[in-house]
Amino acid sequence: MFGLMMDLPLTLTTFMRHGERNHGLQEIVSVTHDNPRHRYTYRECFSRARRLARVLDRLGASENARVATLAWNDYRHLELYYAISCSGRICHTVNPRLFEAQITYILNHAEDEWVFVDPAFVPRLEQIAKESPAVKGYVILSDAVNMPSTSLPNAYCYETLLKAESDDYGWPALDERRASGLCYTSGTTGNPKGVLYDHRSTVLMAFGSALPDSCGLSATDGVLPIVPMFHVNAWGLPFSAIMVGAKLVFPGPALSDPATLTELITVEGVTVSAGVPTVCLPLLAHVQKTQQSLAPLNRIVIGGSACPLSMMEAFRDRHQVRVIHAWGMTEMSPLGTVNAPTAQTRTLEGVAHAEHLCSQGRPIPGVEIKITDDDNVELPWDGKASGALKVRGWWVCRDYFRLEGAGGAHEADGWFVTGDVASIDPHGFIRITDRAKDVIKSGGEWISSIDLENTAMGHPDIEEAAVIGVTHPKWQERPLLVVVRKPGAEIRVLDLLRWFEGKVAKWWIPEDVVFVSSLPHTATGKLSKLELRKQLVDYRFPGT
Ligand code: AMP
Repeated sequence: MFGLMMDLPLTLTTFMRHGERNHGLQEIVSVTHDNPRHRYTYRECFSRARRLARVLDRLGASENARVATLAWNDYRHLELYYAISCSGRICHTVNPRLFEAQITYILNHAEDEWVFVDPAFVPRLEQIAKESPAVKGYVILSDAVNMPSTSLPNAYCYETLLKAESDDYGWPALDERRASGLCYTSGTTGNPKGVLYDHRSTVLMAFGSALPDSCGLSATDGVLPIVPMFHVNAWGLPFSAIMVGAKLVFPGPALSDPATLTELITVEGVTVSAGVPTVCLPLLAHVQKTQQSLAPLNRIVIGGSACPLSMMEAFRDRHQVRVIHAWGMTEMSPLGTVNAPTAQTRTLEGVAHAEHLCSQGRPIPGVEIKITDDDNVELPWDGKASGALKVRGWWVCRDYFRLEGAGGAHEADGWFVTGDVASIDPHGFIRITDRAKDVIKSGGEWISSIDLENTAMGHPDIEEAAVIGVTHPKWQERPLLVVVRKPGAEIRVLDLLRWFEGKVAKWWIPEDVVFVSSLPHTATGKLSKLELRKQLVDYRFPGT
């Protein structure tokens, strides 16, 4: 027997309608290249989204068209998110920081019909336009006054196109399983792979991510997504914030400018933000230097790579900001686990509490996790056993776009193999040890590079740290610590190695330290160990 409840599809159109009707006067504030503080309301936003849907029709964008964006976080990008997906097309966010060859590959693989691009990225596209023949044209995200001159073929001005349309548009009824968005993984090995989100998965992820034990969003929050809208849809915030009716504050091209971020937080009433550790670090350093407050910010979601304890403590102790440590992947829309205490863990104190804080948290309802050994046997949740982390859930991809059956990341029973190595404690909290390909094996035992990096980052003189495994004649591999010192700091190798004593097992202590002026990062701001290994390919431990 089936239940007798209404069978309304879970679509993003529902969020848009709800937002416009119930929170119509809520504000969206953006920094853009043509306006240092653009502000308007949900009502204006969705009226413009309707005009934009008409623009897409007029441009001849087909049903199921992939429409690419190369854009910063701002209101025009938000309009694109909703207009493209809710008119039945697929919003393909492209990371403009990728190499040109990767952007070309992605545009061609997705067969994007139209590309909406910020003026800042126009020169990059001009270089490669000839190699993407399927693209019918380009729309530059600007008003007429600030339009750059361009050699891009068939290029239009966004505001001019919008001005020519009315907002009289009826959103089509969509199946909830219809594709809504496309995002390619960063592809550190091989070509990037496309993850094709649908309305249903995106709606469910928004609900899951807004729960009190996730990001805990409400209509009275001010939300500043520092994580780019081209990095897994800014972790779903443009959907979850609209769903709850929160104020959205977009940093535009000032995404990596701590002074502007601080100003936006304090002046625009930002209570919650989100970003990877590498962008949060300069923000902390800036407010420390200028002695500014981050109020009213009270929580910040940090993920994408492990958040060092020292960063959590600095936010908490100096700014009364709670770090919500989260783990996820492009393939998981992206949120998988969030570190929020349970009735049993909230009473932990001292070292146990600190250790717990560093964990990547527990699954959001809708996501299941397990760890297995090399023979695919499930390992216990005892906080000790460490193995391949596998997931399944409402917003986890079941295949890659146009690689159907060939991606190789799914097991026969449907579980997705994340490529991360983790342990799970009895409370269900995961601890990511490493990416499987970054694992360091010393004398047959695993050493966690993430734990070592975390410990190094706790040293007051260290700005950034990375640990990689380097071949060792006796131990097979030993950890090498590569660090960037804080400006003016003079710490030496032995002092730094001594710092690890008593903090990690003796045999985990790095074999050596290399000081560098900067560490390589990927296009999404994570440490690029692949690149670091290349840079240090000739390195040998002293005496070996
Ligand atoms: P991406 O798909 O580019 O977002 O990368 C996903 C990968 O980032 C995961 O598989 C992890 O290896 C890593 N990652 C994400 N969040 C965390 C975290 N909180 N701690 C450690 N690694 C993380």
